[in-house]
Amino acid sequence: MTVAIALLTQDLRLHDNPVLHAAAAAADEVVPLFVLDPDVSAVGFAAPNRAAFLADCLADLDASLRPLGGRLVLRRGRSASATARLAAEVDAASVHVAAGVSAFAHRREQALREQLGDRLHVHDGSLTVAVPGAVTPAGKDHYAVFTPYFRAWSQAPRRTVHRAPRALRTPEGIAGEPVPTAAPDSPALPPGGERTARRLWQRYPLERYADLHDDLGADGTSRLSPYLHFGCLSVGELVADAERQGHEGAEAFVRQLAWRDFHHQVLAARPEAAHRDYRDRGDRWLPEDDEECEAWRTGRTGFPLVDAGMRQLAHEGWMHNRARLVTASFLAKTLYRDWRIGARHFLRLLVDGDLANNQLNWQWVAGTGTDTRPNRVLNPLSQADRLDPDGAYVRRWVPELADVRGRAVHRPWRLDSPPAGYPAPVVDPDALSTRLRSARGLE
Ligand code: FAD
Repeated sequence: MTVAIALLTQDLRLHDNPVLHAAAAAADEVVPLFVLDPDVSAVGFAAPNRAAFLADCLADLDASLRPLGGRLVLRRGRSASATARLAAEVDAASVHVAAGVSAFAHRREQALREQLGDRLHVHDGSLTVAVPGAVTPAGKDHYAVFTPYFRAWSQAPRRTVHRAPRALRTPEGIAGEPVPTAAPDSPALPPGGERTARRLWQRYPLERYADLHDDLGADGTSRLSPYLHFGCLSVGELVADAERQGHEGAEAFVRQLAWRDFHHQVLAARPEAAHRDYRDRGDRWLPEDDEECEAWRTGRTGFPLVDAGMRQLAHEGWMHNRARLVTASFLAKTLYRDWRIGARHFLRLLVDGDLANNQLNWQWVAGTGTDTRPNRVLNPLSQADRLDPDGAYVRRWVPELADVRGRAVHRPWRLDSPPAGYPAPVVDPDALSTRLRSARGLE
């Protein structure tokens, strides 16, 4: 009997999983392994919302493996040493893992290689559609601008989508930890797991995506981001499904998934962009993390759209993309605070919190990233008129304003009697557009 280990990381699924597929092809028996690694907590990544979602994902994967003859083995410890220990226990001929893009993933892979030598097999095409570094402009190691990347990405060859295994035998008698439990920070966190993810995707009205995805009140995006972050769904399978449908909604959706790949290939090429400016614009951010930042974090800036977004984040551990753009622009451009203050807060709460997508979207908004118009400012008032024209999103998330009708809800300071308990704006609403320009010395 030969045994292979499938070390699962951000690929907590049976369907279209290159790591499980390769491990099953390589050996008679497979140990699907997940390591609860203290180094993930040490870098601050094991936030309660994601820990709770992860616990659901692990329980769901174990439940799906059992009828196939397998089960999920959980171990605690550093990924490389815990895996090497298990490999010795079961005399594994090979260990399979998905390639990652973060500095953490690179270090993990290196440590695994040191301990396992050529028994380690690293598989591309699990985390992203295009392998980071495979779609590049001539003479460069990554694309720095989305539009040309998207053109090249759309033409790049794709790997075939794998079916879920029909049977998968795990050897008996391997010791493992129980699935951990974790209490989330956000009361309305979505449930994790591949089965929920597939149900959501199957029911999602993709044909309406192009019309609905910028409408904050409609809440019509897929909400698949946490499932993509933990790999409960394969992004390659989603793209293949959407391309088969081929309508306008599918095209718009695939474009968003390409943004995800885009940020991953930037981070793979520049892991330091998780913390350092991708493009240094000479910013001298206002230094303090003070009451204005705290008003932003707690959703009490007095700008209703910003506050609605921040309160949605606290309640659900998730925020609509358009609200993310507006709230991030408000902190980085209007309050002119270091994007890292905001990125840190998002990562503490986002159930889909992802180093590539979070840090590089923050940098895009702050003007230190890949935006070709780095001085663009998203005015929270004109954005509110455009994205939430009748005020439904604000009324849903800011109860103090629930009785204000129509778009007047976006400018409560103009009401005859301002709503009780709702704060006055932290900055002068009439001076919004000049703040960044003067801070960056453009005037
Ligand atoms: P849909 O609109 O249904 O899109 C489908 C999928 O496309 C998403 O699930 C996501 O995987 C991908 N996608 C969509 N927009 C983007 C984008 N701008 N960049 C990268 N991928 C995208 N996304 C994360 O997954 N994790 C994060 O930590 C994260 N932080 C962000 C921080 C800021 C400041 C901003 C502006 C955006 C951030 N995003 C992040 C991107 C985007 O907001 C979310 O992916 C999206 O809101 C998730 O909702 P959805 O699944 O309903 O998206």
